[in-house]
Amino acid sequence: MTNTQQNNVDLNEVAKFEALASRWWDTENEFKPLHDINPLRTNYISDRANGLQGKKVIDIGCGGGILSEAMAKLGADVKGIDMGEAPLAVAKLHKEESKLDIDYEKITAEEIAQREAGQYDVVTCLEMLEHVPDPSSVIKACMTLVKPGGHVFFSTINRNPKAYLFAIVGAEYILKMLPKGTHDYAKFIQPAELNNYARKAGLEVTHMTGMTYNPLTKVYKLNDKDVSVNYMMHTQKIEA
Ligand code: SAH
Repeated sequence: MTNTQQNNVDLNEVAKFEALASRWWDTENEFKPLHDINPLRTNYISDRANGLQGKKVIDIGCGGGILSEAMAKLGADVKGIDMGEAPLAVAKLHKEESKLDIDYEKITAEEIAQREAGQYDVVTCLEMLEHVPDPSSVIKACMTLVKPGGHVFFSTINRNPKAYLFAIVGAEYILKMLPKGTHDYAKFIQPAELNNYARKAGLEVTHMTGMTYNPLTKVYKLNDKDVSVNYMMHTQKIEA
């Protein structure tokens, strides 16, 4: 690990989100893609986990709370963790405006896994693994946090020429949907790699779906036949 990386946290990566935090809930700027895909991914999580009402959920790398709030609105008891101070400050202010009860904390996945092992029905870790030095360590922590039989969801970006073209050239340079440097191609994760990390951690991969974006119609869709760029994975902890 370099000197900007401690405890599986890349401080350069966290700093990118600190700098953008004030615009987290601005639906027309840097976080527009996350706002646009949020209903799709929230529905996916809720459907695959058989509803979120009354479920204990932890959102790893929650940022300003876009997904955490949506899950709380569906009745989940949500905890959100992140290593960014400013995104968490925004999340704490915004939940008051939304009149939602969400518990936010600055802590790593690995640390909270030691403290709260086996306590969650659902763990979500979306658009975060491509920003950490060792994604397999976060995946193991997610497995530790979930109850046996519980659900763990990941989303990230595939690594291939098309993903480079769409997620970096298209989104950062041509369409300017994201600031330049948001994503580092080398940290993208292929579905087979994510699958291996999950299985090695003791999670069974039950489903995978792509999230496609059509730049002409500006419409996002879930498509389980196209995981070539953005994709989500549903896994379950194998019951002992
Ligand atoms: N999951 C949210 C936000 C994604 S942005 C969503 O999909 O809406 C990525 C987030 O990961 C940022 O808030 C960043 O601060 C956080 N992050 C990056 N490295 C982290 C780490 N090692 N531990 C916890 N959070 C981290």
